[in-house]
Amino acid sequence: MNSDAAPHTRIIYVAHDHLNRDRGALRTANMATDVIVLVESARMTAGRNWHKERLFFLISSARHFAASLEAEGFTVEYVKAATTIDGLNTITKKHKKLPISCAEPSSFRQFEALEKYGVSFLENDFFLTPRPLFNQWASEQKSYLMENFYRKQRTRLNILMEGKDPVGGAWNFDKENRLPPPKKYEGPAYLEHKRDEIDLSVAKELNHTPTTTWATTRKGALAQLVNFIDNHFADFGPLEDAMTTDNWALHHSLLSPYLNNGLLHPTEVIHAAMKAFNTGAIPIESAEGFIRQLIGWREYVNGMYWFLGPDYRNNNQLKATVKLLPLFTDPNKTQMNCMKQTVTDINNRAWVHHIPRLMLLSNLALVTGTNPQAFLDWMREVFIDATEWVMVPNVIGMGVHADGGAMMTKPYAAGGAYISRMSNYCKPCVYDPKLRTGETACPFTTLYWDFLDRHKETFAKNHRMSQQIFGLKRLSDLPELKERAQEVIAGLQKGKI
Ligand code: SF4
Repeated sequence: MNSDAAPHTRIIYVAHDHLNRDRGALRTANMATDVIVLVESARMTAGRNWHKERLFFLISSARHFAASLEAEGFTVEYVKAATTIDGLNTITKKHKKLPISCAEPSSFRQFEALEKYGVSFLENDFFLTPRPLFNQWASEQKSYLMENFYRKQRTRLNILMEGKDPVGGAWNFDKENRLPPPKKYEGPAYLEHKRDEIDLSVAKELNHTPTTTWATTRKGALAQLVNFIDNHFADFGPLEDAMTTDNWALHHSLLSPYLNNGLLHPTEVIHAAMKAFNTGAIPIESAEGFIRQLIGWREYVNGMYWFLGPDYRNNNQLKATVKLLPLFTDPNKTQMNCMKQTVTDINNRAWVHHIPRLMLLSNLALVTGTNPQAFLDWMREVFIDATEWVMVPNVIGMGVHADGGAMMTKPYAAGGAYISRMSNYCKPCVYDPKLRTGETACPFTTLYWDFLDRHKETFAKNHRMSQQIFGLKRLSDLPELKERAQEVIAGLQKGKI
């Protein structure tokens, strides 16, 4: 891309997850004096076994964004290099060692590398909560309950509030939002995104046939937002936890990739949601459920990532050592219908919603005792929206309870009964969610009890686990169950269960 002989005085580095013209370092960009640099590093593209759809989305979005800046009149350098620092080296040589600025990076690793290189940081305003404000909240807490943070956010940001009280008379409407999937549920069609020349050239480089699911431009991301608000928002809440083979996304917004790479900012998503809610067309349970994801969960997870520090990702307090199961990379390596369907969906689109992520994938890693870092790496590689700050707290803290409860008060372990209630996976499955022993016992049900038994001492003092531990004590077939659990883990490792 072009560069000219203008008297440039600064380099602005734009990371692949900061693609926003009005945020980060670009907020103060000056066309006459700034050179904008984007680096496509080999570390990012080929360093790991990344899902190709994910790479396609990230790279094509960045190239479109660079092209849009250039069309606006900026001097833009889009470089390919072994690492980000190598790319910046090339550019500083070319532009006579100009100082470099960027928005505070989104991961510890990049923060350290860029700081060491001498890059100066501008505030990261891709979130609603400045890092110091979150740290202040967290340092005042005995336990970091998301619900407490969320209520504070509602008040601070004055969203869905009537004076000091929550709109609708309650802070959350989870009870209304736990419907199982309706039978044969199709719902409105999902938006498809046409591919242009930039998309096609990225796809060719990656040797990948992209889906039409993900937009790679700001225009496409905005169309996705409008589509969600107009066609899905009203029904989002009640079905947000349901899983069905009839409809891969139900009423989920599919906006997280754009929020996480910068093409959308949470403020504009909240604005669109509240505008629709204020017309009276959106039930409170859908509005509240969606707003909680944005101002609660998303902000909380990012805040916790920075608050907990770089070593947090190495936690393994339940001493889980099982290698990543083959079914995670090949859905043909399992007979568990729920896992086969979910991993196939991930292979197809690099996405499944939060409940399969938590209650199927993470739950299986948790109850099998899969090594948390192996599982975290896999989660990072396969999801379209899997940034480091999202996945580290979500997997280590919430998904597999590897932090000894620092983030969540109890592990999200569940047997087949939950999955059977919330999905249509179990009916055609060779396993029976009600059985915990025998060859046709549901692996989730067997392993759930085995997990509780393996860690009963750890959880003995946790009052939120007392009901489960009490249930464990009443099992008359525990020896038989533990034998079956060994068979199940061995079978999963061989790709036979
Ligand atoms: Fe999954 Fe168990 Fe249901 Fe089969 S029976 S689909 S393994 S939860």
